[in-house]
Amino acid sequence: MNINKLIRPSVLNLKKYSSARDEFSDKKDDFQFMDANENPFDTEYNRYPDPYQKSLKKKLADLKMISHENIVLGNGSDEILDMIIRVFCEPQKDEILSLSPSYGMYEVLAQINNVTYKTCRLNSKFQLDVKALLNEVSKNTKMIILCSPNNPSGALLQVASIKKVLDDFKGIVVIDEAYIDFSANSSFINELAHYENLIITQTFSKAAGLAGIRLGVCYASQAICKAINKIKLPYNVNTLTQQKAIQFLKNIDKMKSQIEIIKSERSVLFKVLESLNYVEKVYPSDANFILVKVDDANKRYQELLNFGIVVRNRTNVEMCENCLRISVGNPQENQKLIYVLKEIDR
Ligand code: PMP
Repeated sequence: MNINKLIRPSVLNLKKYSSARDEFSDKKDDFQFMDANENPFDTEYNRYPDPYQKSLKKKLADLKMISHENIVLGNGSDEILDMIIRVFCEPQKDEILSLSPSYGMYEVLAQINNVTYKTCRLNSKFQLDVKALLNEVSKNTKMIILCSPNNPSGALLQVASIKKVLDDFKGIVVIDEAYIDFSANSSFINELAHYENLIITQTFSKAAGLAGIRLGVCYASQAICKAINKIKLPYNVNTLTQQKAIQFLKNIDKMKSQIEIIKSERSVLFKVLESLNYVEKVYPSDANFILVKVDDANKRYQELLNFGIVVRNRTNVEMCENCLRISVGNPQENQKLIYVLKEIDR
């Protein structure tokens, strides 16, 4: 597959911005930098960050057992998704196809970029009907975005269905794996060698517990990473974020044990939710949240709020009428949630 044919001509022909320091920004101690008009007095942060985050990428590449050339980092995965759209989708011409319901930012990002956004409805188990999806593909469909585990349902998409999309669709396939660490499945990163048009997005905002540092990750073929690097703003991931992420990657066991706690708390919450009279359905989740259908979402949302608990009211989202999406908290928070859920059941 020739990825270059999928890239917008303006991006393909773009001469990217380069700084004098691109090659040696991770070798700070070896040179005297007088190229970027920084304040020369050391504040720890007086220097621009490494634009290609070499040290951080190396750590991540080792962990995921891929090359650093298959990684692009961004200011959250929202920025990664925005960059992907800008690399491939020609405004007022190309289309993005995704699922409904799914993560709301896909549509917003498509609209910001003046790109048509189409969706294919998931079935009642929030599963993908591959035939129906591929039927929606038109000559202008540049990209399909799949989210697995999906937000807001929490359901994993079946591996075989995703593979079928990858096999049959000749454009870019993005798999948003923001919640993959909470799931029973492994990442599609292992499939990168087989599909040059595959892009996987992940984030440090969920399982890694670092939503505040804003770090998103794109794993893709070198051709795709090269194209994204062309349009990436030079210093999109700041020094503090890079340092914090490197520190985090030195001890991921802590995250692993937190994930185990979150998963067992998820099971506890699931059972409690199922036992409540005003709950009509609790959807199985492979993420760190649970979608629950209640008798009256607006009423139950307000009742929880009166007790100081904020959940996400998804009642206006397609297929989610009267649904609340509740994030799994820490054990103490879940105790309070359970108390309140039972209290409003009386
Ligand atoms: N993808 C999905 C499915 C999400 O739910 C979210 C955040 N809610 C994101 C991407 C964006 O995450 P971030 O920008 O924090 O990396």
